Amino acid sequence: MNDKIITEIDELSESALRELSNGYGDSNLDEEFVAGVTATSIQTFTNSPLVNYTKISPNKTIGRNHIIDTITIHCVEGQCTVQTLGDIFYPASRKASSNYGIGYDGKIGLYCDEKDRSWCSSSASNDHRAITIEVASDTKEPYAVKDAAYNSLIKLVTDICKRNNIKKLLWVNDKSLIGNIEKQNMTIHRWFADTSCPGSYLLNKMGDIASKVNANLSAALQGTEYKLVTKVNKYVSAADAKAKKNSKGTYSAGTYYIYRNYPNGYDGMYNITTDKTGNSAGSWINPSENIIQTTPPAPSTAKTYTLVTTCRIYTTAANAKSKINSVGTWKAGTYYIYNKYLNGYNGMYALSLAKDGSSPDAWINPTENVKSSTPTITSNEYKVVTRIRIYTTAANAKAKKNSVGTWKPGTYYIYNKYPNGYDGMYALSLAKNGSSPDAWINPSENVVAAALSVDTINETKKISVIRKIVNEIIKLFKK
Ligand SMILES: [Zn+2]
Repeated sequence: MNDKIITEIDELSESALRELSNGYGDSNLDEEFVAGVTATSIQTFTNSPLVNYTKISPNKTIGRNHIIDTITIHCVEGQCTVQTLGDIFYPASRKASSNYGIGYDGKIGLYCDEKDRSWCSSSASNDHRAITIEVASDTKEPYAVKDAAYNSLIKLVTDICKRNNIKKLLWVNDKSLIGNIEKQNMTIHRWFADTSCPGSYLLNKMGDIASKVNANLSAALQGTEYKLVTKVNKYVSAADAKAKKNSKGTYSAGTYYIYRNYPNGYDGMYNITTDKTGNSAGSWINPSENIIQTTPPAPSTAKTYTLVTTCRIYTTAANAKSKINSVGTWKAGTYYIYNKYLNGYNGMYALSLAKDGSSPDAWINPTENVKSSTPTITSNEYKVVTRIRIYTTAANAKAKKNSVGTWKPGTYYIYNKYPNGYDGMYALSLAKNGSSPDAWINPSENVVAAALSVDTINETKKISVIRKIVNEIIKLFKK
């Protein structure tokens, strides 16, 4: 024992040590042991995997004469550790032990294997059938225990019940029901000896312990739920379920449980069962079938159809196809395709004014749904660089006769029937799309007058001088 442990033991009260020594008190050990052989032969004993510390005490009866069906919770009367409890129970002179102890910090100690009878509750018959648990507590009333210790106690008792097939903890605080485990399978030390154990704190908590443990047990006894939201096929193998073949009947919608052998399914498939424990196999299902099949809601809007131009409408697809007996026009805009013929009929479309396409309001011929040629299409431009004579025919233009006027310089458009001219002449159009032949011109007349030569300038000067002289002569004559 190290100093710390010694100190802790010192802190335990005299009454605590008396209490911890109270466990032993039976003289018929041999007889019990013989009976215990029979009892242990029908139960496999294990210890809790929750144990943090083990120090097996010599103070025990090897074997039990009864299966484990009772839980007895004690208070230590000291806020000690599991090591301290182990040291207390270790000396043979102490003549006391418990199967488990829980330290103030929630740690769990093992001092007497579950297969053996501990010397704990001052009752051989009780301890032969009970798992005894000492819980670190205050040293005086109400012998309160720390939350950490209490929480560990719940976990430990749950574990003990699971491993020993105790399906439910029953507590009615009735000493007369000792051994009547169908009505009560929790006992307390004070029923067997003059002791305050387990103290009023734990005594008042027995019902809470039972309900918390039972909640854990009922959860543990349930297989993992699997909800079917709709009827699905049953298959005899995961492979069949995956392939969705050879289905054998159906599961209706409801709550099922996943077969424990395949808690996470197998290859994406699940074996589900009505067995709440999930211990027995059911049939395989394919989760992809577990979806609610609803009729798809009618689309709020049908497919749209856009008229790009004012379009003739017809009462039948046949008329639309033949473009006869049009009954009017619809202007450009977005309409809806009659939902009975979403892809049209014989190349024609029935349009609906209703957004859901429910009514066939008019047939149209898609070939008429094209924009007419628009003025934005420009013909080839033709630049006239000088005032130019215009003619009514290409022949006149060629012969430069019968000009009917002139056009001033500017940009015109080549008549689109003769984009490359005709016989060297060009028909020009005032329309940007070149749609109208407005005048013929002779390209040879579409030239800027060449700059005058020096000689021409001199001649011009001579003429100018002569003109001035003539004008002066005329003036003289007028005088
Ligand atoms: Zn006790």
